[in-house]
Amino acid sequence: MNIEEVYEKANALLKGHFLLASGNHSNQYLQSAKVLEYPKEASKLTDALAIMIKEAGVEAHTVCAPALGGVLAGYELARSLGLRSIFVEKNEGKMELRRGFEITQGEKVIICEDIITTGGSALKAFQEIEALGGKVVAFAALANRGFCHREGSEVKTKAECKLPNNIPFFALADFDFEIYAPEMCPLCKAGLGEAIKPGSKS
Ligand code: ZN
Repeated sequence: MNIEEVYEKANALLKGHFLLASGNHSNQYLQSAKVLEYPKEASKLTDALAIMIKEAGVEAHTVCAPALGGVLAGYELARSLGLRSIFVEKNEGKMELRRGFEITQGEKVIICEDIITTGGSALKAFQEIEALGGKVVAFAALANRGFCHREGSEVKTKAECKLPNNIPFFALADFDFEIYAPEMCPLCKAGLGEAIKPGSKS
């Protein structure tokens, strides 16, 4: 499966002039929710991710996703792996397990995101699960933005990556886009207009 093609077909891989959450500019942007718009297609992606995780010998009881972004990917991955699916949600700077979800002592958990950028939300989910007595055995995401090293990739971990480096991270592909500081941005210099912020609000 050519993951980049799947993203392009789903209009999840945008090309243009974008303002990132970091304040930098880029000529590409991943609108991850779009790749999960059609469940049949989404399950093909998580089936592929499940094979990678199984082939690595990772065993787990549960998939836990940080809400909101990770929930659909986590649910589909849990279906692909035949596991339980739960999610944690933002509260006062933390990711909390709520809604009656529980973790048993030693329960093995995969933290799943739609996309891992620096892994900040995944790290908070990890901290919550481990504080409740669970054991995080892997991180997973459909897409890796190229800040963290995923299993089987040449892309090395960069300083921005927040994932613990002793736990494996599985993703289908790296989307290691070019990023420009605004004052250095060639798209601004080429007069392509103001960088737009697609994010979750468009
Ligand atoms: Zn620019």
